[in-house]
Amino acid sequence: MPIIIDGTIVSNAILDRVKAEAEELRRERGITPGLAVVLVGDDPASATYVRSKGRMCERLGFHSITHRLPASTSALELLSLIAALNADSAIHGILVQSPLPGHIDYEQVVETIDYHKDVDGFHPVNVGRMVIGLPAHESCTPAGVLAMLTHYQIPTSGRSVVIIGRSNIVGKPLANMMMQKREGGNAIVTVAHSAAADLGAVTRNADIVIAAIGRPRYITADMVKEGAVVIDVGINRVDDPGSEKGYRIVGDVDFDAVAPKCSAITPVPGGVGKMTIAMLMLNTLRSARGDFH
Ligand code: NAD
Repeated sequence: MPIIIDGTIVSNAILDRVKAEAEELRRERGITPGLAVVLVGDDPASATYVRSKGRMCERLGFHSITHRLPASTSALELLSLIAALNADSAIHGILVQSPLPGHIDYEQVVETIDYHKDVDGFHPVNVGRMVIGLPAHESCTPAGVLAMLTHYQIPTSGRSVVIIGRSNIVGKPLANMMMQKREGGNAIVTVAHSAAADLGAVTRNADIVIAAIGRPRYITADMVKEGAVVIDVGINRVDDPGSEKGYRIVGDVDFDAVAPKCSAITPVPGGVGKMTIAMLMLNTLRSARGDFH
C-alpha cells in the first residue's frame, strides 16, 4: 500500500511552528502579524474561504480584518482601500479574494498591493523574484506541495516530475519552484497542459506526477508508472445524491485505481487542499517579521 501523504498532519506541523514563532515575535519585538482579507461581492464559496482565513488568524493569535464590499464596488474604491492597507503598519498581509466582479481587473488589483504584503505570492515582483531564486512570498498552493514532499522526505533532486497544468496560481509557479536548487526542488521538470495530444505518454515516465487540472478523476492508473509519487491538487465537485449536500469533492486523480500503483499519494480531500491556508499564514508571519525587507 502507498504512503498516504496527509495534508492535515503537514499543515498542522507548519501551523504549530507559525504559532510559536508569532508568539516569539510578539514577545521579543511587540509585533502581532496582521492579515487583511478583502471580499468583493457575495460568492458563497469565497465567503466560506474568507471566514476560514479569519478563524485561522484567531487560532494563531494573528490580528485580522475582513473588508466585505458589495459587488457594485468600483475599481477605484477597491484600489483606494488597498492603498490604505498598504500604508497600515498593523497589516502585514493583504489578500483580495478571487474571483472579483467582472468590471474589476484582478491583475491591476494585485499589482496595487505592496509586494511585501502580497502574502498570496501573486504580485509580478514576487513571482519574478521567486523565478530567479531570490527570497519572495511564494504562491501558497505550490509552496504547500513542496512542504508536503519535504515533510514526507520524498526525494525530488534529479527526479523527473511532470506537472499537469500551467495556471499562474499552481502549475507555473510550482514548475519554477521545483526546478530551483532547493529543498523540495532540483527536479527535472516537465509541464504538460491542455495541448498534450497523449498525456499518458508524458506522465508514464515521471517519478512524481502532480495534477493541477480541474477535471475529476482525469488521471487514471494506466497514466502512472509503478512506484510513482502522485500529488493531486485538483478540487472538483461531483454530484452525489446520496450525500447530505448532494455533491462531494474529488481530485484530478482516480484515487482508488491509481493509489495501489503508487509509492505515495495525496488524498482529496485531506491532501494539498489543507496546505494553502497554512502557507498563507506562514507568509503573513514572514511579512510581519520583515524577512524579505
Ligand atoms: P486552471 O483552470 O487555471 O488551469 C488548469 C490547467 O489544466 C490549465 O493550464 C490547462 O492547460 C490544464 N488542462 C486542462 N485540461 C487538460 C487536459 N485534458 N490535459 C492536460 N492538461 C489540461 O486551474 P488551476 O487554478 O490551476 O486549478 C487546478 C485545480 O487545482 C482545480 O481543480 C482547482 O480547484 C485546484 N486548486 C486547488 C487549490 C488548493 O488545493 N488549495 C488551489 C488552487 C487550485
